[in-house]
Amino acid sequence: MLSVPMKAVLLDRDGVINALVYHEDAGVIDAPLKRSQFKLFPRVPEAIRLLNDMGLKTAIVSNQPGIAKGRLKPTIFKAFERKMLSEILSEGGHIDRVFYCLHHPEAKVRKFRQRCRCRKPEIGLLELAAAELHVSLEQCYMIGDGIPDLLAGSRAGCRTIFVGRWKCEICQFTEAPHVRPAYVAKDLWEAAQFIRSEMTGSGPVTSSPNCLLAQA
Ligand SMILES: [Mg+2]
Ligand SMILES: [Zn+2]
Repeated sequence: MLSVPMKAVLLDRDGVINALVYHEDAGVIDAPLKRSQFKLFPRVPEAIRLLNDMGLKTAIVSNQPGIAKGRLKPTIFKAFERKMLSEILSEGGHIDRVFYCLHHPEAKVRKFRQRCRCRKPEIGLLELAAAELHVSLEQCYMIGDGIPDLLAGSRAGCRTIFVGRWKCEICQFTEAPHVRPAYVAKDLWEAAQFIRSEMTGSGPVTSSPNCLLAQA
């Protein structure tokens, strides 16, 4: 069992809640930019409901520099949020709060051009989320698919969970002690199962065996 009672789950958005998209123009795999590109991963609403049922608060903590970079329309950004929340609600789950960092140090849009304290791997967004949820950061899981999520979570004192299928490319980085997650899950559903097993002491959940780190 855990030494601290866990109270909340902080979730990265892109790559955890919704799928990433390959943007041919820029040659990058990144956050969706069009309505048709925003798709929740399978069983995400069920996973959120499971976390809700365990009495855990849930918040999204997400870097969203797309507007700052002039690549994403604010109206579409809001539409993504509505779609995310309503699809989760329709399965009986809910997200308590949503927090974004809209900044980027090289933003085209002037008001978002800054080196802020909320862009992960900085911990400002996590601190804000914990404060608004009335929990301490040590009582939070931080779930993400990127190194900045693991770094921010670990700097903030959260228990970190890595979600993703690109484990082999990323393993070499996650092995460093300061980013190594408590668990590696193939999706949010598996992460939620892990949290349940930790919180109830119901024995280990085995990771998807598609890389060495997952088997560790
Ligand atoms: Mg992500
Ligand atoms: Zn920021």
